[in-house]
Amino acid sequence: LGSSLRGTLNDLRGKSRIDEDDVGEVVKQIQRALLQADVEVGLVMELSDSIEQRALSEDPPAGTTARDHVLKIVYEELVELVGESTELPLEPQTIMLAGLQGSGKTTTAAKMAWWFSKKGLRPAVIQTDTFRPGAYDQAKQMCERAEVEFYGDPDGDDPVEIAREGMEATEDADVRIVDTAGRHALEEDLIDEIEEIEATVAPDVSLLVLDAAIGQGAKDQAREFERSVGIEGVVITKLDGTAKGGGALTAVNETDSSIAFLGTGETVKDIERFEPSGFISRLLGMGDLKQLSERVERAMQETQEEDDDWDPEDLLEGQFTLKDMQRQMEAMNRMGPLDQVMDMIPGLGGGMMDQLPDDAMDVTQDRMRRFDIAMDSMTDEELENPRTIGRSRVERISRGSGVEEETIRELLEQHKMMEQTLKQFQGMGEGDMQRMMKK
Ligand code: GDP
Ligand code: MG
Repeated sequence: LGSSLRGTLNDLRGKSRIDEDDVGEVVKQIQRALLQADVEVGLVMELSDSIEQRALSEDPPAGTTARDHVLKIVYEELVELVGESTELPLEPQTIMLAGLQGSGKTTTAAKMAWWFSKKGLRPAVIQTDTFRPGAYDQAKQMCERAEVEFYGDPDGDDPVEIAREGMEATEDADVRIVDTAGRHALEEDLIDEIEEIEATVAPDVSLLVLDAAIGQGAKDQAREFERSVGIEGVVITKLDGTAKGGGALTAVNETDSSIAFLGTGETVKDIERFEPSGFISRLLGMGDLKQLSERVERAMQETQEEDDDWDPEDLLEGQFTLKDMQRQMEAMNRMGPLDQVMDMIPGLGGGMMDQLPDDAMDVTQDRMRRFDIAMDSMTDEELENPRTIGRSRVERISRGSGVEEETIRELLEQHKMMEQTLKQFQGMGEGDMQRMMKK
């Protein structure tokens, strides 16, 4: 467990400032998960660099622990990596699907039509695949199941001609989804054909359909389709299988586009609009990081709302009292039971939780509770000025609160550590002031 993300993050817990080794360890765990999900090495490295840089240069906001701050950065950078979903206004438009054979285009066409019909629009699917035997029947059947308009020609042999006729035949539809043929590989005639269809139907949006298991083959495909027809978005299919779809991010990067939809099964209803946080969770095989990120934010806000007279900036002036420290701990507490928070952290799936002894997670929270109780037995003067708490006062506080002397000494130790860290900021602040005055 020493090198696990949980262990790493637990070590960060008591720290108000974290160093390069700490961040390096967190980043290593995330890299491992992303590489396992087929995310390209180059993208993983870029992400690592951003996380490292931010975690080491940005200070945790008041009321946030260093650990939660790092997690928030990790989440934000992951959102940056996967991107926001492709914009698809709910208005009349033509969408063309491109991709290799078997990637899931025909299925996706019917699914998307179903999706648009549920949004109150009138969609139609135009099937132009004359290459694959049975393509017409397959598309027609799926569109019947989706209860959407369908155009195809079972006897046609010219895809471009079918596309042209299809556009005329579906004039009354709002959203026209043009399904195209694929090949096993990127052959010249496939590219020629799709370029001609593109010129004929003039799509508002072209989407590249990719199997979640694509891996690094995504790069060449994406480049080729981008060059020939231009790609505005990506659809990742078969996410109901074991593949995590990380390879598709390569295509997103290569085409400078974004993800539009996810396919999660074989029926017409198995389609989801892409949403970063859910996809990230899937990618890392973990609970919801977004929730944690939001909790951190909420805890910070509540801390500030509750203590109107308390300005985090005060930490940089004057003294850091035990009361200040208590506020920070309260903010941490508000994020919920520690093991629940831990559950939301990447790579700490249920299995790993079970391997821990039951009380392992309680220690820190329990310790915080005892700190609290001990502080209740302190005088205001002691809270404001913990340095006055000598051995005899520790004894008195221990007797009064029932908290062990050892724990009270730990509390004072932790306070001293945080105070020292803050002093460093204060020093920096003055230096900056002086430099500015000289100008
Ligand atoms: P196309 O050649 O690109 O048109 O691909 P198809 O739409 O014909 O799909 C190829 C196969 O993948 C079919 O057997 C589909 O049922 C299956 N398929 C497509 N999308 C999904 C999905 O999201 N999940 C699963 N499990 N199967 C899918
Ligand atoms: Mg097809």
